[in-house]
Amino acid sequence: MKIIVLVENNKVELDCELSETLNNIKKTVELRLNTSLEGYKFKIFVNTIDNMYLTLSSCLEYFNIQNIQACLIRAFKKDVGGGGRFGLEFNSMVNSVQRDYHNNATEQNIIVKGLNVDSICQNSSCKFYNKKVTVQLGIGTFNMVDLCFSEKYKCCVCQQKPQDIFQNPIMNDCKYEISGRYLPDGKKNYEIFKKSGQIAGKYIVFEDSQNSKRLWHSLSVKTERL
Ligand SMILES: [Zn+2]
Repeated sequence: MKIIVLVENNKVELDCELSETLNNIKKTVELRLNTSLEGYKFKIFVNTIDNMYLTLSSCLEYFNIQNIQACLIRAFKKDVGGGGRFGLEFNSMVNSVQRDYHNNATEQNIIVKGLNVDSICQNSSCKFYNKKVTVQLGIGTFNMVDLCFSEKYKCCVCQQKPQDIFQNPIMNDCKYEISGRYLPDGKKNYEIFKKSGQIAGKYIVFEDSQNSKRLWHSLSVKTERL
């Protein structure tokens, strides 16, 4: 499939497979332009999904674009706002299981009351580089799609943004509700997702594989003290 990537005034045309991740596309564009795209955000523009921000693990297959002649991706240095819709590839929020291993947690895996997310630290100067770390969010209402792109989403040790590839949310000792809209596999219309009036005891982990993740158009998680 033909992909056009616009980086400010530079245009790069690529031919790539639908199974390609944005991370690989980014690397190819970096080589072609001989420049780093670190810190850039990427938006995809195709008819079926308006324009969406992509995470680096986003895969073109998600977007039902098999029949489209070409797809446009724009790289921005900053959030450009103004009509942009965010999308997020994130945990399906379906399969939860209680885990005890956090009872022996050390500093990188301390779970607070409310919402936490297991992630992998990608800051090479962090003690826990490439290891599982907790993003501590706690009690409140969280718009996950915006939050995951913001600096509030951070490793609890080094305070830097972790990888977006591995995210297992953990509900701990709280009431919670989840609502959102996601694009089911192979569909063009979003479906509503809602779980309300949930009670979590200790360490309820939403476990997912890379394949069972969902593309969320919106995802709100609200936690309250018990
Ligand atoms: Zn870290």
